[in-house]
Amino acid sequence: MMMLTKKMIEIRGLLQTVGQSESLTLPSIVVIGSQSSGKSSVLEAIVGHEFLPKGHNMVTRRPIELTLVHTPDASAEYGEFPALGLSKVTDFGQIQKTLTDLNLAVPVTDCVSDDPIQLRIHSPNVPDLSLIDLPGYIQVVGRDQPPELKEKIAQLCEKYIKPPNVILAISAADVDLANSTALRASRKVDPRGERTIGVITKMDLVDAERGASLLSDRKYALRLGYVGVVCRVPSNASGSKLFSRGNGNITNAIAKNENAYFGSHAEFSSDSQLAVGTSNLKKKLMYVLEQTMAASLKTTSEAIQRELAEATYEYKVQYNERPLSAESYLAESLDGFKHSFRGFSDAFGRPQVRELLKHELDQQVLNLLAQRYWNRPFEDLSPPLPETDPLSSLPKADPEGEHQIWQIKLDSSSAALTKLGVGRLATSVVANAIQAHIDRLVANSRFAAHPFARQAITEASTSILKDLSYDIADELEICIKPYKYRIELEDNEWARGRENVTAVLKEELKVCEAAAKRLEDQAGGRKKVRDVMAFIDRVRNGQVVLEGDGIGGAGGFSAPLLAKGREAVFLRDRTDVLKMRLLAVKSKQCANKKNKYHCPEVFLDAVADKLTTTADLFLDAELLSKFYYNFPRELDARLGRGLSQSEIDRFAREDPKIRRHLDVVRRKDLLETVLKEMESLRQLEAREKRSIRRE
Ligand code: GDP
Repeated sequence: MMMLTKKMIEIRGLLQTVGQSESLTLPSIVVIGSQSSGKSSVLEAIVGHEFLPKGHNMVTRRPIELTLVHTPDASAEYGEFPALGLSKVTDFGQIQKTLTDLNLAVPVTDCVSDDPIQLRIHSPNVPDLSLIDLPGYIQVVGRDQPPELKEKIAQLCEKYIKPPNVILAISAADVDLANSTALRASRKVDPRGERTIGVITKMDLVDAERGASLLSDRKYALRLGYVGVVCRVPSNASGSKLFSRGNGNITNAIAKNENAYFGSHAEFSSDSQLAVGTSNLKKKLMYVLEQTMAASLKTTSEAIQRELAEATYEYKVQYNERPLSAESYLAESLDGFKHSFRGFSDAFGRPQVRELLKHELDQQVLNLLAQRYWNRPFEDLSPPLPETDPLSSLPKADPEGEHQIWQIKLDSSSAALTKLGVGRLATSVVANAIQAHIDRLVANSRFAAHPFARQAITEASTSILKDLSYDIADELEICIKPYKYRIELEDNEWARGRENVTAVLKEELKVCEAAAKRLEDQAGGRKKVRDVMAFIDRVRNGQVVLEGDGIGGAGGFSAPLLAKGREAVFLRDRTDVLKMRLLAVKSKQCANKKNKYHCPEVFLDAVADKLTTTADLFLDAELLSKFYYNFPRELDARLGRGLSQSEIDRFAREDPKIRRHLDVVRRKDLLETVLKEMESLRQLEAREKRSIRRE
């Protein structure tokens, strides 16, 4: 019959993984007793090892679901904490420490927790049993303990001693049974004493006659009877030199002790029919558990069928029977993301890089022009055009000397442009653009709801871009090096520069005009701004002397208004310059590249264009193609092959919708497995019955 219990205990374990549900479990033996009744000693005697937390400060705060697995040819005895992923702990001292830590993690203010600790012990010396150890009942609440502790322990025990569980009620022989908290609690839920086994500990502390009378107690008669034990570990048993404390097997020492004690008192002779000794207790537990489990198989299997029907219905109605696993969800999400990434890489190539870079360099050209040509008092703003120009009213002294000045100016501007670190600038502009695209792709993908994956993807792209950028920036700088010394322009390059810079200047003009308009709106109307601008002009022309620094306002204008006025004057001057320069660029003179010193805008634009052409070619080949090759592989490494099962689960469960779907699928699968197991159990049972009948 032993195979049956093992199988039933396995099914019980499976049911535990389905989830906490009262009807969805098989019975277990629940151990209750007041503190110091000897409860831990009994459990340790059954297991054959000291492994339970010891200490004065209420060390059992959580139920311990103890599954004993009889393993006939196991070379070593070991424990497992499945929920912690701890397997094959062969040092029972370590098990004791882990249990202590898990219990102490429950804050004192919470008193106790009903979240059970699961512990499996494999050993050739244990029977197949499923036991639940509960915190011991306390009589008096200690000074440093919360007042509700006593009540909370009682409630926790009450929850577990419900039918069909078997109650193992521990009472000490030296305490009057009428005062046994365990028996009183069991009586409440099992008034006819049908599913309670009484254990009387510390039999050695009372005289044999009294001990024997306790075991045949009539007042608290129990159908399953009482067993008397002497479970105190003899002091030399676990301290043996061969074993570290807590690691030696104590079974033999206890058996020897008990045999000596019970054997020396006639009251406990075999004729007495009294049940004594740990080994008899073990046998009784095995028998009772098997009977009880077998008796509840039918109701449990019905409950499983009901739950399965519910889960199947939900799966069908809510999820259209769409199979789902964390792995398949991740794989699909990753494929989807890679697909959208391919779409992006097809659409973002050299022309797009070129446009980005040109725009960036246009801005640099505008800044240079503003700094070097347009920031002087009006007359001196820009190189005058040669004689024939319609704008020849501009002052022009000493044409030869002037020419030289403008030549130096243009050469230095061009040098400033080529030396501004185009390699680093262009690389970072493109890398940032790629990163921004990736961020957008993530935000629009399934990964949007998964912080963990989002981070992994962002890290994948930033790390590749960072690695590539470092060398690429330097290499690109080398590519554009020749332009730092000499720039030759073809006619068509000049013409293109002229066309482009016209558009850029027009755009800049629009920006200035829009800013001026915005400023008028903010400052409270055109007139107001005009007035303050007129005042500032008068100050600039020396017609008005500003007293102090004008911080507190001047000329009847408030300080903020003056500030706006200054801004407006700046924008007006900039607009005037831009208009004038646009005329100049459009003029016939600027159609010819030999007038380049008078047309710095066109020249610098053409230089920027040359730089762009070199950079876009290089970045397309080096940055884009390498990134497009590496990124999907890095994704696979970080989100595909590289993830452990628990990480994949964690990822999938981040999305609440997916979590519910996965839960239903898992529940259904588990319930189906349990039912299958139950069916094979039924067959096993039938076979065993047949063989017993044959015997
Ligand atoms: P728990 O608080 O109910 O778990 O009780 P313990 O198992 O820790 O035992 C309380 C005390 O009683 C310990 O000092 C044990 O050594 C002692 N004890 C346990 N069983 C026996 C026994 O059968 N005989 C004697 N003399 N002492 C025992």
